[in-house]
Amino acid sequence: MSTNSGKLYVVATPIGNLADFSARGIAVLTQVDLIAAEDTRHVRMLLSHYGISNKLFSLHQYNEQKASAALLEKLRQGLSIALVSDAGTPLLSDPGMPLVKMAREAGIEVSPVPGACALIAALSVAGLPVSRFLFEGFLPRTGAARRAFFQERRDWRLTWVFYESSHRILAAIEDLAEVLPVQRGIVIARELTKVHETIVKDSLENVLTLLRQDENMRRGEFVVIVSAAQPEKNEAVISAEQKKLLTILLRECSTRTAAALAAEITGARKKDLYQAALALRKDR
Ligand code: SAM
Repeated sequence: MSTNSGKLYVVATPIGNLADFSARGIAVLTQVDLIAAEDTRHVRMLLSHYGISNKLFSLHQYNEQKASAALLEKLRQGLSIALVSDAGTPLLSDPGMPLVKMAREAGIEVSPVPGACALIAALSVAGLPVSRFLFEGFLPRTGAARRAFFQERRDWRLTWVFYESSHRILAAIEDLAEVLPVQRGIVIARELTKVHETIVKDSLENVLTLLRQDENMRRGEFVVIVSAAQPEKNEAVISAEQKKLLTILLRECSTRTAAALAAEITGARKKDLYQAALALRKDR
């Protein structure tokens, strides 16, 4: 490590409730020579809340390589720099990775100032096993890509987590219900630490109904947690679309024929569809 170099602090900021900012976060943002921020207007609000005035440098996804190179030069000259994003922990679905990588490669000290992170906050209240989980960040934006993404993860035996915005939350959960068994447990954590914080843990089917019925539930920022696949004996592992098709076929055909036709149409396993058809007949 070069002794005259500065130090890079990676500082987590609140994800909603400003009171969540740590004492060390405030001290570091006050003392560093420069704050590298995703949106300088946004960070100014945080700084003014805490009475901090300091120099800002813009580092966002569109200027990241160039800005990181410039910041690296300043670190080499001995300046200390704090990296912050708009909310939560930098680098987690946020800019910062190139700067941290460059600083490490240059032998510059990089130190975390930990704090809020939406995915960790959501996992901490989900009541699901979290000793192993997979964080996926933001989902693909188009329906087809999203469904393919869900299909790949459908049978994975670990909790998985993704971020979603108000614009796409309904479409994302609708796609999830097309691909995963609708009985699968999910958690949606909305507006964490803010006035309208809502955490719902229910079956995919019930969460979808709630989102469709309640416009307010579609507002704000979301973390979605999908429970691990745990196929039980004789559990009919079918999607909402497959269930709809089976229900229609069962009006006209025997259980066996309905399952065979649904398997041919959807490509799903006949055995699963047969189990589901039996359960549907029983429910009538
Ligand atoms: N770096 C941040 C972190 O540590 O959580 C995440 C930044 S990412 C650009 C923003 C996304 O995080 C939002 O679209 C939402 O999915 C999630 N998020 C951020 N704040 C949230 C909150 N208060 N409640 C729920 N989700 C939140």
